Amino acid sequence: MLACQNCGKPLKRTDRAYFLLEVPHRSIGEIRSFLAVNSVAYCPDCVQIMRTKALN
Ligand SMILES: [Zn+2]
Repeated sequence: MLACQNCGKPLKRTDRAYFLLEVPHRSIGEIRSFLAVNSVAYCPDCVQIMRTKALN
């Protein structure tokens, strides 16, 4: 199961998970396999914290 990389909370509702990722270098068609390897998942709470930090 996916877990938030910041607080470790399990992400039970994948519709409420957020992913931080680098843009694929080749094509958007590779996004599926790219996500599996390179994505970092965060829960909604931690995304809000990071947004706040980014603004400051
Ligand atoms: Zn979190």
